[in-house]
Amino acid sequence: MPAVFVSHGAPTLAIEAHEPTHAFLQQLGKALPMTPRAIVCISAHWESRQPTLSAGATPETIHDFYGFPEALYRIRYGAPGDPALASRIRDLLGADGLVAALDDHRGFDHGAWVPLSLAYPRADVPVLQLSVQSALDAAHHVALGRALAPLRDEGILILGSGGATHDLRRASLGGRADPPVPADVRAFEAWLVEGIEAGATADLVAWEQRAPYARENHPTHEHFLPLFVPLGAAPEGTRGRVLHRTFAYGALSMAAFAWD
Ligand code: ZN
Repeated sequence: MPAVFVSHGAPTLAIEAHEPTHAFLQQLGKALPMTPRAIVCISAHWESRQPTLSAGATPETIHDFYGFPEALYRIRYGAPGDPALASRIRDLLGADGLVAALDDHRGFDHGAWVPLSLAYPRADVPVLQLSVQSALDAAHHVALGRALAPLRDEGILILGSGGATHDLRRASLGGRADPPVPADVRAFEAWLVEGIEAGATADLVAWEQRAPYARENHPTHEHFLPLFVPLGAAPEGTRGRVLHRTFAYGALSMAAFAWD
């Protein structure tokens, strides 16, 4: 099973059929070689000090945003959890020295359910979430991915969900549909695509020093760190491929990648 990263943009992506990333996500499930046995989703919208896995059998849908259209608050993503798999993943992480916790009550945040409701609308594949440690660096998230890598052979999809660029202060949410993309956003995105296609893992991990306009595009890190888990789930140096490459609201790259 490939490991995948998607940019989830704004919550309205779930209902905006005209948005190219909406159409991309709708075909993502069919574009992968098989239906996953389960999905481990690393979402930007679950941050914790310690790696934590959602471990309930029937996770709720969390509407973790304010002031959006009513239709979004009615969406329920009813995929089951998989408590036994959550325990097993905790043990896998522990074997690599990554002490993880289980959270029986954690539901699905919109970083998980917006893309999954489009890619797997029948909600028949079990989904676990794994939290992001925004106080830690890219190398830590690569290590999480490396520990999860054996799951790929079992048909489990490792899915990072964040943003390839994510300066919300410059994103014209609710503004004109197709504002210009700032030059520094294009430069950062191009650097990212080039590094992923080249399998330049060391450069990518050192993104804070090596990427152009790193701080401008990720004033906080939580939307970028989910990319490093699927990256780490592929052998070092694996060339990733671009699944999708558009911009939304001017400053948001909606790029998505797979590592086969
Ligand atoms: Zn987000």
